[in-house]
Formats: sequence, structure tokens, C-alpha cells
Amino acid sequence: MTIKEILVCGNPRLREKSEKVAKISKSIEQLVSDMFDTLQKAKGIGLAAPQIGVLKRVIIIDLHTKDEDYTGVMINPEITKKYGEKTVMQEGCLSIPEVYCDVERPEFIDVSYMSLYGKKEKMIGVGKMLSRVIQHEVDHLNGVLFIDRLNKEERMKAAVILEKSKNIEKQKPESNL
Ligand SMILES: [Zn+2]
Repeated sequence: MTIKEILVCGNPRLREKSEKVAKISKSIEQLVSDMFDTLQKAKGIGLAAPQIGVLKRVIIIDLHTKDEDYTGVMINPEITKKYGEKTVMQEGCLSIPEVYCDVERPEFIDVSYMSLYGKKEKMIGVGKMLSRVIQHEVDHLNGVLFIDRLNKEERMKAAVILEKSKNIEKQKPESNL
């Protein structure tokens, strides 16, 4: 079991574009395994490889709601279609602790990707919540964070929370670091 450190907002790695995975190697299998350990520990529902500092196009999802149940790995995910109404939903991110904001995104997507067995897969009309999570994670692969997608009002709210958390960080006595 390997739990990796999750990079937080401000780390330049989170702003880089991740590379496509050419083939499933042992190191990709290890990466996916580490990502699941890390996600479970953090109690999150999705994680992208760059969040643990690896700039590869790999995302994992562990989503369990009343209507949707999906656990899986998507390698080189590509959103091939976006449709439905633009909907607003509150999002958070393991790389931006304590910030939860309303983000507008298309309601449904189609996605193609490679499985961990190297097989090409496609999901058509992905569920509402899963569509949201995939869009959020694919953004990470392109160096985009959900705070980039906020309207002015929500962006102000996020900025205040981020600023406060920075100050708390500064005030921590050295023994706690
Ligand atoms: Zn995120």
C-alpha cells in the first residue's frame, strides 16, 4: 500500500499538460495502484495522476451515490461529445482543500479511453455525476483546475478561502510542520 502526497494548488505541476500513455507498463500499473491507495485514504471520488506529481494521462474514479456506482481507471480519456443542459453543481478538489464552489458544465458526455488491459473503450451517455467527475479529472490532465471555471462571484469566494488557509499555514508553529 503506497499513499502518495497530493499536490495542492500553487504547485506548478498542477498547471502542466500531462502526456499520453503509449502502452500499459508495470510502472503504469503501479501508478494506478498508488492512485487508488491515495484516493481511498483521502476519501475522494476521483484523482488524476498529476495530482500526485505524475504527468501522465491517467484518471481513476470511485463514485458511489444513490443512482450511480462506478469504480474504474481511464487511460488517455477523451471527451468526444458534450450534451444536455449546462448545469451548476458544487465541486471540491483534493488539491484545493476546503474550497467548494458552484461550477457550470455540460450535463452529459461521451468518453473514450484505454482500459488498464490496453483495450479501447467507449462510454456513451455517461451518468450525470460521473460526467461531472470525468470532466473535472480530464481538466487536471490539461493543467486546468475547477477554480478556473468559476464565475466572478464564486471566484471571489474561493480566493478568500484560499487566502485564509495560507495565513493559517503561516501561523502554524514550527513544531507542527
Ligand atoms: Zn480535482
